[in-house]
Amino acid sequence: MAKIAFIGLGNMGGPMAANLCKAQHHVTAFDLSDSALAAAVEKGAHKAASAAEAVKDAEIVVTMLPAGKHVREVYEKDVLPNVAKGALLIDCSTIDVDSARHVAGLAQKAGLEMIDAPVSGGVGGATAGTLTFMVGGSDADFAKARPILEKMGRNIVHAGGSGNGQAAKICNNMILGISMIAVSEGFMLGKRLGLDAQKLFDVVSTASGSCWSLINYCPVPGPVPASPANRDYQAGFTAAMMLKDLLLAQQASAGAGAATPLGAEAAQLFSLYVNAGNSAKDFSGIIKMLDGK
Ligand code: NAD
Repeated sequence: MAKIAFIGLGNMGGPMAANLCKAQHHVTAFDLSDSALAAAVEKGAHKAASAAEAVKDAEIVVTMLPAGKHVREVYEKDVLPNVAKGALLIDCSTIDVDSARHVAGLAQKAGLEMIDAPVSGGVGGATAGTLTFMVGGSDADFAKARPILEKMGRNIVHAGGSGNGQAAKICNNMILGISMIAVSEGFMLGKRLGLDAQKLFDVVSTASGSCWSLINYCPVPGPVPASPANRDYQAGFTAAMMLKDLLLAQQASAGAGAATPLGAEAAQLFSLYVNAGNSAKDFSGIIKMLDGK
């Protein structure tokens, strides 16, 4: 049983912390939201009055915060000045690679170990404990974190040094955003050519155009019963989250001098979709906008 501080108990962090409690770890939790904190306490966590208090006696610190600015702030103000020497710091938030490397550098200067470990799998995966973790950090820190991450996820991949977990996450989600638009365009063209959606699915799902966005998350109702298209694009993975990740990918592309023209176009299209009042809709709902609705 490890003493774990968990900061950020939202849609993802709440169920992740609950799985650590279920695995008999001693979890001390903090969130700015009273209701998120109360829900975590109900699942077995111990309530802290602040992030600083939560990390005081922790052997492991896990953070699951919205964006890079929150991660920088929480680590600079609360975690690094208060955590005990020898503690392992695990940031699971999806943030920009620069912030991840900056905070890990500060941790190293303070004599602390830190990894970035963003996730894929959504709220369903967080609840079921089947997340995929993409980890950036040293071999030793990865080995130390692994047993903790295994209580929250099923696939744990060491992607390389500091920041590489975030790099893997944004590359994956850029591919996902682009492929969802590609599949949507295919179905819209098919419809206008008189093709039945199920027939098109039957062909493409066994042909060279097949991909995850089609097979698991088909953006038209019918072919894949579990996809959000069958429940009026209720998220799922929100369009706002997809836009956030596509913008992170663009920021990273600019910094790294990588040409990602389709990623840029996908970010523009998701901006239009989000700005039309669809931020809380599932990202696959972009097919409606592409259909002119
Ligand atoms: P969320 O907004 O539901 O939760 C974030 C929580 O952090 C909130 O409860 C908020 O009160 C808390 N918080 C913010 N600032 C804080 C601070 N200074 N101190 C303490 N608590 C603070 O977001 P989420 O959906 O849980 O996502 C968290 C992260 O996971 C994001 O980086 C997101 O991109 C990533 N992610 C989300 C999903 C998803 O499907 N929701 C999937 C993969 C990755």
